[in-house]
Amino acid sequence: MWGMIATWRMALEGITKGAELLENGKCAGDAIEEAIKEVEDFPYYKSVGYGGLPNEEMEVELDAAYMDGDTLDVGCVAAIKDFKNPISIARRLSIEKVNSMLVGAGAEKFAHKEGFERKNMLSDRAKIHYENKIKKLKKEDIVPYDGHDTVGMVSLDKNRKMVVGTSTSGLFMKKKGRVGDSPIAGSGFYVDSEIGGVTATGLGEDLMKCCISYEVVRLMGEGFSPQEACDRAVSKFDAKLKSRRNKAGDMSIVAMNNKGEWGVATNIEGFSFAVVTENEPPKVYLTKIINNKCVHEVASKEWLDDYMKTRTMPLERK
Ligand code: ASP
Repeated sequence: MWGMIATWRMALEGITKGAELLENGKCAGDAIEEAIKEVEDFPYYKSVGYGGLPNEEMEVELDAAYMDGDTLDVGCVAAIKDFKNPISIARRLSIEKVNSMLVGAGAEKFAHKEGFERKNMLSDRAKIHYENKIKKLKKEDIVPYDGHDTVGMVSLDKNRKMVVGTSTSGLFMKKKGRVGDSPIAGSGFYVDSEIGGVTATGLGEDLMKCCISYEVVRLMGEGFSPQEACDRAVSKFDAKLKSRRNKAGDMSIVAMNNKGEWGVATNIEGFSFAVVTENEPPKVYLTKIINNKCVHEVASKEWLDDYMKTRTMPLERK
């Protein structure tokens, strides 16, 4: 059995490419790297790679991670600027015994020395989003941080190796140097080939309070199905944060075990995700919360068409 699961609709083209590799016997790591690169390179996704939304200083600072479920090697970059594919740098770092998580200027120096491709990651479209937001902030009393979403993916190959990867521009208008959960093992991602893999998206500051990805892998290791493990972790931490702090940030997680079974849970309306397995062609699902249960429905053609239309619509300065 092979398969991939990933956060958000934006992962669809990536997992379709990853599936081709897995079907042809390529390893889970190659599938993750190629699939995430696809998302990083697509200019219309405004929360990952090129076209990602900038920080307060109008700079695109990116976070990414790669974890190998056989060796438990982890590589991450955080707040890295001006490199085309942060996921590839994270993968390269994952084979280092020490210095495997690098931030800011240190990450850029490493990437430069290793010959990774440089690119100004601020697109004209992202600049317009930034300028429009600045105008809106002056007029309205709102928090600046909405406009995020991480692509996180889990892959399982024919040899039962599992890998997980993440890539994001983090919160829109974040402080320079702010790092979310996406490059933090246990919070934004975790994988163990003997059990399964998990990745998260949502408000990093809250996801990190729960080490949610590790918790879901741990629950799967205790015998829970991926769906049960995701449901348990999200409802537990959502309730805990609400009782201790009066509110819980957005929290959505996707999981796959080493048999290719998958599960998803969220505490928000409108979460979408993409899945492919040996038995299931690439599909996008939408999750609804009905009576406190997460129910997944295949996205309609109309929803998918509308998604692309709104993503690629011309953007005007306000
Ligand atoms: N978790 C990401 C962060 O806080 C953002 C997201 O997934 O929406 O940086």
